[in-house]
Amino acid sequence: MQLELRNINKVYPNGTVASRDISFIAETGELVVLVGPSGCGKSTVLRMIAGLEEVSSGEILLGGEPIQNLSPAKRDIGMVFQNYALYPHLTVEQNIAFPLVIKKIKKSIIKAKVAEVAETLSISSLLGKKPKEISGGERQRVALGRAIVREPRLFLFDEPLSNLDAKLRVQMRTEIINLQRSLGITAIYVTHDQTEAMTMGTRIIVLKSGVVQQNDVPSIVYREPNNIFTAGFIGSPAMNFFEGSFLREKDLFFLESGEGAKLQMPNDDIILYIAKELKHITIGIRPENIETSTEMPTSETYLEEEIVNVEFLGNESLVFFKTAGKIKTVRTTNTILFSRGEKVYFNFNTSKMIFFDRTGNLIK
Ligand code: ADP
Repeated sequence: MQLELRNINKVYPNGTVASRDISFIAETGELVVLVGPSGCGKSTVLRMIAGLEEVSSGEILLGGEPIQNLSPAKRDIGMVFQNYALYPHLTVEQNIAFPLVIKKIKKSIIKAKVAEVAETLSISSLLGKKPKEISGGERQRVALGRAIVREPRLFLFDEPLSNLDAKLRVQMRTEIINLQRSLGITAIYVTHDQTEAMTMGTRIIVLKSGVVQQNDVPSIVYREPNNIFTAGFIGSPAMNFFEGSFLREKDLFFLESGEGAKLQMPNDDIILYIAKELKHITIGIRPENIETSTEMPTSETYLEEEIVNVEFLGNESLVFFKTAGKIKTVRTTNTILFSRGEKVYFNFNTSKMIFFDRTGNLIK
């Protein structure tokens, strides 16, 4: 079912503005991820959709019908939280059955439905156990079971994996996606973890201070972030930024930072255009788009700097260098082992550079 938020604003009684004019559509079957740092207003949006928090203004439509004035129970939404919120005194079976019991559904039907859901989630053998007798991952599955057993019109996930260890988190990501896709139920998924956003979302909505920064498919958010905030938030390790002014010396252009570092620019139309229009810019380039080499590059855009650290990750390494006092990151699968203290060339793949104006917006 389609979910639409229209110009949602939220001001808490103490004056905190948590949502500013938030609008988006989640189409039927989509898994839309709301991502942003702690305090950006993700949970507030989710709570307003669930009806646990009132909107200050705006409309929430589910299947085209406004729901913002309905009680939470009437909205028919399944929620999964970070802390599972299972009833400790009830068995797994009773926990999953709970939403159906309060709907006063026939016992035999409940039993069959719970069995079916448990089967889907591979927790049939746990039905007789209490939450404290099962692992964190299993509890999370039970919480999922409780959300899906009622066949809700919409799923809401609030950081459901953040209490799990790294390995289990990766596994549960796939399980949640597969479950959500096979059920075809629209889902809104809140996380501060950009990897989760990138890997799970059919679409990502990046939030900062209650304002939507970007709403697009993961590949576009990664390649063409609207602004410096999104560029720096999405992607790990984070994008490198080089801030400065264009300087022209005869036919050559350089980016010169305040600290005196100079980066020669390619002599292409984009640079000519930007240099004509703007003085102050920020260049963004991802760690995988800078190449480390001991040979002098043939292209003009490179820096020669000392390696300040190397992190060997097995299949790749992260190489860190400092320029104009700031640390930059390079990701390399080059089999040459670079070492700290070595002076090498950092060669920029200029076709992958992106540019931001003085206000931090992407120059297109
Ligand atoms: P996130 O989920 O992204 O961490 P929240 O939606 O929880 O962010 O919070 C957004 C902002 O609203 C924060 O500044 C937070 O302190 C504030 N906030 C959240 N809940 C309340 C509340 N009940 N009363 C007042 N301010 C709140």
